[in-house]
Amino acid sequence: MNTPFFDIPSSLCAASDAVMAGTKDAFARIDEITEYNQQKVLSAFIEFHVSETHFVPTTGYGYGDRGRDTLDELFAKVMGAEDALVRHSVVSGTHAITVALFGVLRPGDVLLAATGTPYDTLLGVIGVGAPSDGSLADYGIGYAEVPLKNDLPDLDGIREALRMDPRVKVVHIQRSRGYSLRPSLSVAQIGEIVSAVREVRPDAIVFVDNCYGEFVEKTEPTAVGADLMAGSLIKNAGGGIAENGGYICGRRDLVEQCSYRMTTPGLGREVGASLGHNRSLYMGLFHAPHVVGEALKTAVYAAALFSSFGYEVTPTADEVRADIIQAVKLGDAPSLIAFCQGMQQGAPVDSFVVPEPWDMPGYDDQVIMAAGAFTAGASIELSADAPLREPFAAYMQGGLNFHSGKLGVLLAARSMMEKGILKL
Ligand SMILES: *Cc1c(COP(=O)(O)O)cnc(C)c1O
Repeated sequence: MNTPFFDIPSSLCAASDAVMAGTKDAFARIDEITEYNQQKVLSAFIEFHVSETHFVPTTGYGYGDRGRDTLDELFAKVMGAEDALVRHSVVSGTHAITVALFGVLRPGDVLLAATGTPYDTLLGVIGVGAPSDGSLADYGIGYAEVPLKNDLPDLDGIREALRMDPRVKVVHIQRSRGYSLRPSLSVAQIGEIVSAVREVRPDAIVFVDNCYGEFVEKTEPTAVGADLMAGSLIKNAGGGIAENGGYICGRRDLVEQCSYRMTTPGLGREVGASLGHNRSLYMGLFHAPHVVGEALKTAVYAAALFSSFGYEVTPTADEVRADIIQAVKLGDAPSLIAFCQGMQQGAPVDSFVVPEPWDMPGYDDQVIMAAGAFTAGASIELSADAPLREPFAAYMQGGLNFHSGKLGVLLAARSMMEKGILKL
């Protein structure tokens, strides 16, 4: 490759060219899924007669916002769900998941995490350990957990937990690895969990945290029997265009219950002005399959390049993926810091900033992050996070287009070369 605008050592360019040849099959698989999902999304836009009138902002209560209501239907169609709520006023993925859980759980019920400990930000919501304000625990909602077994869902353990405790009302599944090294769950694996749950408790609600999973496969968990699902719009489903927001989708009766928690009992989805955000939410959804494909190619490339340097990567370049996260085990703190600092140099925004490890609230270890995004914190844009602890893995994700994502990865490698860590 040529890098006329960047000073990349020729040995690194040669290493890059060598691994690119080997990514053909993985890229072809990604393109095939992207094409399928792009057609799925486009056909929904056509079916719902999306027009400029859907982008007209509403203010105040937001009664009768056609754009908002049609987006809900269109989104549900794409996700293989009966109904959906897609809102800029849902502030994040954690908020969407929180609305979903509080929407359907009642005092005396139990939430069962079926794929191990959920993502960090949900622990305060559940109210595990430290007392917190207004958590599920505060409202008398119990919590239990079935750990993964050899990194896989423990179907027998899940059935057993359901038999033991008839109070379980919601079974929680996390599709993405989050910031752990366990593999992400495929939609087929989620379908197997759904079947296992149904055998014992046909009435239990299966909830999926779908963050980072949207459009990575041809189907979504709600299409294989999950009852309820939630995610963030500054990750996959917002296509790098949504400026904020979250979504909930699933069974119609459950989505309605969630709508009463999202606004108020009685008002539900009838209120909530779109304030001019509709256009970016529609456009983001339209772009999402393609952008997810670009992020996946960036991840495959990083896996191929860093494994060629001898680093352990997960998933590997050839593995079938279920989310957009790529972990690269760098082995020590200086390598991790150099990697993140190099990646930051390739950001379109804040490229001149030098990230440093810091004591992030809620984490036991120091964390370093590379992020230079148009939308603050958007991890569908190229970004990397890493807690400074064994095995010193960088978790990278995103990339709005492969060509810039590739360069970010190269600059991470260059930074390690400059520090004398990586020798080519
Ligand atoms: C990002 C993420 C969340 C939380 O989303 P935020 O938008 O950061 O609040 C929850 N679960 C998983 C698996 C995630 O990746």
